[in-house]
Amino acid sequence: MRYLLIVLVCAVLGGCEKSAPQEKQAAVTDPGPPAAAKNLHPDIDRDWLFSHIEILSSDDFGGRAPATPGEEKTIAYLREQFAALGLEPGHNGSFFQDVPLVTITATTDDAVRVNSKDGTSIELPIGEDAVVWTKRVTPEAAISDSDLVFVGYGIVAPEFEWDDYAGLDVSGKTVVMLVNDPGFASQDPALFKGNAMTYYGRWTYKFEEAAKQGAAGALIIHETPAAGYPWSVVQGSWTGAQHDLVTADKNMSRASIEGWISSSAADKMLQAVGSSYAQLKEEALDRTMGSRELGLSASVAVRNSISTSNSKNVLAKIPGTERPDEYILYMAHWDHLGTDPNLEGDQIYNGAVDNATGTAGLLAIARAFMQQPQKPRRSIMFVAVTAEESGLLGSRHYAENPPVPLNKTVAGVNMDALHVTGPTRDVAVIGYGSSELEKYLAKAALQQNRTIGPEPTPEKGFFYRSDHFNLAKKGVPVLYAKSGVDLVDGGPEKGRALQAEHIQKRYHKPADEINENWNLTGSAEDLQLFFHVGSMLAGEKSFPQWYPGNEFKALRDASMMQ
Ligand SMILES: [Zn+2]
Repeated sequence: MRYLLIVLVCAVLGGCEKSAPQEKQAAVTDPGPPAAAKNLHPDIDRDWLFSHIEILSSDDFGGRAPATPGEEKTIAYLREQFAALGLEPGHNGSFFQDVPLVTITATTDDAVRVNSKDGTSIELPIGEDAVVWTKRVTPEAAISDSDLVFVGYGIVAPEFEWDDYAGLDVSGKTVVMLVNDPGFASQDPALFKGNAMTYYGRWTYKFEEAAKQGAAGALIIHETPAAGYPWSVVQGSWTGAQHDLVTADKNMSRASIEGWISSSAADKMLQAVGSSYAQLKEEALDRTMGSRELGLSASVAVRNSISTSNSKNVLAKIPGTERPDEYILYMAHWDHLGTDPNLEGDQIYNGAVDNATGTAGLLAIARAFMQQPQKPRRSIMFVAVTAEESGLLGSRHYAENPPVPLNKTVAGVNMDALHVTGPTRDVAVIGYGSSELEKYLAKAALQQNRTIGPEPTPEKGFFYRSDHFNLAKKGVPVLYAKSGVDLVDGGPEKGRALQAEHIQKRYHKPADEINENWNLTGSAEDLQLFFHVGSMLAGEKSFPQWYPGNEFKALRDASMMQ
């Protein structure tokens, strides 16, 4: 999980009845959404859930790093559990899908050298002013006296009538762009999605678009509020060994050099041509002004040391009784950060919350479906993905090599780091306002006397930072939600305090370990919710859609035509 702070979002719904989750259930007779849900209240056994989290996060599993003995133990365990529950292999008769990985450790020049046309030379030291790399799986990559072209936010978004590359040929050149999107910059709710980040605001998109446009280099100017994190995160994330998927073209279609420069470094080089970072920000919001050559050129080289390895996604399915070729997909990443022999004391990143909870959640939901008197009408696919912590790689591999067609995949539900601090009155939806799946979630939540709402920091783009996003990118409507902070026992203040404590003391640390004092009632309620959503969807024929204006809607509409 990339860290997410959730605060109370509470719209009190009138007239909601107290539900009776423990009630004995009757057989499903009516497949319609509300009625079906009402009849389905699987008891998610908390002791059972705890015991699976305990095994997955044990020292014996070594922190579950991809391509380690910890992986072998984890995937063997998951296969065994899915098979014992009576599920079928989900990938061509196997429970496993190979995920070939490449690991690149780069050595970079000590600075990006920028020259102006009049001969002024500026050095941007690596680390302090710039961070660059190449995604190309090749021993060496470079840009040499490559012309810098300012392309605003680097966005081509027909649905927002925005094209930063209009009438521009950047082949062989290096594009320089701003992070986030015009909506965030202007805080104008009518521009993009206002304060909430769209996919176009994410750095991943900007590098992909630059490559599509044929750029040789792509540099994003960092600014803390717009990026959502400080420069130190840019420095830390892109140094050391970097994992990626092995692709057919060895990423040779990517720009040769990708990277970030700090806003002060941008200012420094822009002053050489009588401009400034502030001026670029103004220009970027002016549609008519468009992009322009900066009168600067840049040079930098990167040398790679390359190795490959193999990891696996674990796939298990319950075939549908009436429409077996249509799928509801549940996803959770099984991997975590492994073991670090250089650490003093505890060296194992057990990843109990992140994400033994979500992985055990897959097993719990699978068990709930298998315990129903009637099997689902549509098929249910459970996917435990690898290498989330290395950049959402396992889920990307699944989405790019789907074992079942994505236009037959009705919806995806992602679980990443369930809450272990007790039940809450609120359910926080990451990327709230995206799709009709929220209607299903709201219906299910109502039966638990809970309400759903947005998480409080949509400008940080958390929707684009966990595994479900790779399905969204292919058009599949996805749901990513979890307990909010309004604790039934203690309210939002206590909920926020406990979350803050978790982030400070345990998040991505060896201390993320299982604890006898955990209260899994809230996790169990969340799993019931996700079960209900999938169960409603499995009982009907419709395909829920992205809401109009969503950046993935056009993709889905096109793929459904096929
Ligand atoms: Zn996670």
